[in-house]
Amino acid sequence: MELTEHMDPFEAVNHYFTRAARIADVSASTEAVLKTPYRELRVEVPIRRDNGQLEVYLGYRVQHDNSRGPFKGGIRFHKSAAIEEIRALASLMTWKTALVDLPFGGAKGGIAVDTRPFSANELEHLTRTYVRQISRMIGPTTDIPAPDMYTNAQVMAWFLDEYEQLNGRAPAVVTGKPLALGGSPGRIEATGRGVIIALGETIRGLGWSPDGTTIAIQGFGNVGSWAAQLAHRAGYKVVAVSDSEVCVYCGGGIDIDSLAEHRAANGSLKGFSGTELLEPDDVLMLPVDVLIPAALGEVIHAENEGEVLAEVIVEGANHPVTPWADAALADRGVTVVPDILANAGGVTVSYFEWVQNMQHFRWTEAQVNDRLTQRLVDAHQHVMKVVEDRGCTLREAAFVIAVERVAEASALRGML
Ligand code: NAD
Repeated sequence: MELTEHMDPFEAVNHYFTRAARIADVSASTEAVLKTPYRELRVEVPIRRDNGQLEVYLGYRVQHDNSRGPFKGGIRFHKSAAIEEIRALASLMTWKTALVDLPFGGAKGGIAVDTRPFSANELEHLTRTYVRQISRMIGPTTDIPAPDMYTNAQVMAWFLDEYEQLNGRAPAVVTGKPLALGGSPGRIEATGRGVIIALGETIRGLGWSPDGTTIAIQGFGNVGSWAAQLAHRAGYKVVAVSDSEVCVYCGGGIDIDSLAEHRAANGSLKGFSGTELLEPDDVLMLPVDVLIPAALGEVIHAENEGEVLAEVIVEGANHPVTPWADAALADRGVTVVPDILANAGGVTVSYFEWVQNMQHFRWTEAQVNDRLTQRLVDAHQHVMKVVEDRGCTLREAAFVIAVERVAEASALRGML
């Protein structure tokens, strides 16, 4: 697929896929099969707001590939959750689960809605209606959802309860649940932890040390806030974090644990002493060593790529860099640790949660964290080996490993 400045998100993921398929010498017909999503469902999600008003939203579940195991992927509630985006994120999940060698395929779901003004009651109703609409498509051995943007452990609890009311006991149908309902120790911070493991492996390769490395993080939700806290505790200097309202900056470094307490108490990053207030998007252009986009997709693109000063970008978010910007960053020597490697910690611990649910047995947090670290370090080293052998970028190497694994599984099944 030719590189153009404006590609929809699915075209963008397929751009990376196609390059990898060529490097891996996958045939054109295999390429076409692997690219095409297995099944897509679009549903109506009506909800009566607390004031009596009836509203309707569109929900989706896209199952991309299941040759290596059940479909797996998060559910997001965000107004940008259109079918092209969900389709792209579903295919990214196929490549991500294959890269870290989990026995899962790829899926994604969501509702195109801004739930920020919703009460807890409204959010619960929205979630339960969506579950009823997609229930026939999911199950513990067919398709296992998880949290993503603007969904969390509470949403997964409602999700589980609604599914079980329809189908009977099935704790493994969804991951990212609260501990009291079969969630795994370490799941909440797993994606952020994985981002910092990927960062650690990357700076080790560059000969940098954490205490000499400055970081800016876009997003202070599940991924961003845990990445920030774990980076701070590991001795990195986190100089800026942002959310949808503001960016807070302090060149000398921010005490992230105190900032998290401040945000929990005040509901905002604003007003934290010793920090300067900047516009949210300024976080991308600060003079730092490392930038961690951990919010929305496509935030680094042709128009702002040249203003990014970081030498390393670790993709906490899914698809935060457009292919056009990715090529430009590679040309000027910026190291980009791709999403399918950098943010794979979440789905890895989701897999551990699913295993624990299937076995009705709980692991300790130390076991979860050790196994997560081992798996991600192995994946990182495998990617670096392919980078060396083939002289390609980390993203190309990561996609090559993933595409080869999915192609092999599909061929063995006789699907190709
Ligand atoms: P979240 O809903 O917990 O947090 C989202 C954050 O993004 C919030 O802090 C919000 O204020 C911020 N944000 C929204 N719009 C913004 C803007 N315009 N500028 C700056 N910040 C903005 O979501 P999350 O679970 O942390 O997911 C973030 C990203 O990480 C998404 O791309 C998601 O797909 C990806 N991801 C999440 C997980 C997971 O386990 N949660 C796993 C892998 C990848």
